[in-house]
Amino acid sequence: MKSTMQSSALTLTAVLHAISDSFGDGQALTCRNEEGDVERLGYDELVLRTARLANVLSALNVMRGDRIGTLMWNSGQHLEAYLAIPCYGAVLHTLNVRLTAEQLAFVVTDAGDRVVLCDSSLASTLAAAISAMPTVESVVVVGDLPAVERSTFEAAGKTVVDYADALASAADSYQWPLLDEHSAASLCYTSGTTGDPKGVVYSHRSVYLHALAACSGNVAGICARDTVMPLVPMFHVNAWGLPYAALMAGADLVLPHRFVRPATIAALVEGWKPTVAGAVPTVFNDLLGWLRENPGHDLTSLRRVFCGGAAVPIALIDAYRSEFGVTITQAWGMTETSPIVCVADPPKGCGPEQARGYAQAAGRVVFGSRGRIVGDDGQVLPRDGISVGEFQVSGPWITGQYLGGRNAESFERSEDGTVWLRTGDIGRINHLGYVQLTDRAKDVIKSGGEWISSVELETALAGHPAVIEAAVIGVPDSRWDERPLAVVVRSHGSDVSEAELQEWLSHRVVKWWLPERWSFVDALQRTGTGKTDKRALRARYAANDLLVTTLSPGSAF
Ligand code: AMP
Repeated sequence: MKSTMQSSALTLTAVLHAISDSFGDGQALTCRNEEGDVERLGYDELVLRTARLANVLSALNVMRGDRIGTLMWNSGQHLEAYLAIPCYGAVLHTLNVRLTAEQLAFVVTDAGDRVVLCDSSLASTLAAAISAMPTVESVVVVGDLPAVERSTFEAAGKTVVDYADALASAADSYQWPLLDEHSAASLCYTSGTTGDPKGVVYSHRSVYLHALAACSGNVAGICARDTVMPLVPMFHVNAWGLPYAALMAGADLVLPHRFVRPATIAALVEGWKPTVAGAVPTVFNDLLGWLRENPGHDLTSLRRVFCGGAAVPIALIDAYRSEFGVTITQAWGMTETSPIVCVADPPKGCGPEQARGYAQAAGRVVFGSRGRIVGDDGQVLPRDGISVGEFQVSGPWITGQYLGGRNAESFERSEDGTVWLRTGDIGRINHLGYVQLTDRAKDVIKSGGEWISSVELETALAGHPAVIEAAVIGVPDSRWDERPLAVVVRSHGSDVSEAELQEWLSHRVVKWWLPERWSFVDALQRTGTGKTDKRALRARYAANDLLVTTLSPGSAF
């Protein structure tokens, strides 16, 4: 029997209609300086400006399905691009501003971007790569373009368009096309820490469903009374889908532009009282250090704060709760998964200590996604919270392939036709769907044939009061094949020793995990998405570029 229901397409045009029909009273506030002053964009105006941008795309002869790059910070203009480009029927390709010129040229050319929208503060980044971007015909610049970059773009044969001028002269209505919900809405490349970056293409349907899930109670519970502050960049997995979720719900947005610095974040929180925020652990770690040195700030407007992208140390969660009355909730996801798949709220009925244990997990798989753990032999392992294997996921906002069919080995198809993405994360899952990760497959340390979890060692080290952050990598060892090397950033003025840290760890992990090799550094290098760059650390170790102290294993073995 066929249903009698309408089959309205699940497209982002529906989000545009929602703000146009019902949420004209919402607003996006873009930070303009380090003091936290903002520029307001009302959602009624956002609707008009989105239509104007669509007319600009039309004037640039953009066709349905064309890719449009954005090299932009979190801003009202980027929000305009977030709506106008997909609703026009083109594909929003968010570009990571921290890529090297070669990587930037690679992803733009691989995607075949015809137009790039660029913040003027990032014009030099684009200019450094523009000669290697043959597919790009036009560069649309938001803000004042310096003469040097203008001539670089022009010398490379690109048409240069001023965003504000173009919008000012465009008509403010546009006949939005009816789109197929399965057509491409946006495109994001993985960070490429293993090989070339790979393209993940989100559909209108996947973005729509993911945003609905973000609004649901088990995720962020976003509604029109909320103010959402995505500190995570809009160029990384659509800022975890938070902008679309906020627009869909009619919630206000606070967009930090390029000012993701502790003092500015504190000013934005106190000034605009956001209720929902999301950022990687580094951002919250830096903010914590600053808040401790600059007491008296109130962050309690934040009712739902997501942290993810890397394991979140429990010490960080504890510190925010006890010192600032803010609960940080860990979440897990990847570029390939839109990204939200797991959220680490504790299950019903558990006491504070047990809840603390759950807060350290990657989280419980949310409705819409499915997760499983698969052993080395390809067998699905029991959901017993003990068996360790690769975490695999499936669902309507999880990619079923990479652009161009690359890395087909990352996908498995079960007998019923379900496609499972092999995440490359190693961990366990329990009977309530909570996933506890122990490592990235590529970061696993195998010592004497047994696995040591770098994540658990890092988390335990981060709990030491004199440690700002730590990274643990496996290094060759003549006896055990591999042993952990702990690379630690100590807090300012601290002289805590390797032996003291080893002693601290000895109460927290099994003895044979204790690293003998230690190195203190001033800072850990970051990848383009703000995570610790372990590849760079391994390279430094291999080049003898780290000062390593080796303690005797002593009673550890
Ligand atoms: P990306 O595609 O750059 O967002 O990176 C995705 C990867 O980040 C995942 O495969 C994990 O390895 C890591 N990741 C994300 N969230 C978490 C988390 N809560 N705990 C541990 N690792 C995480």
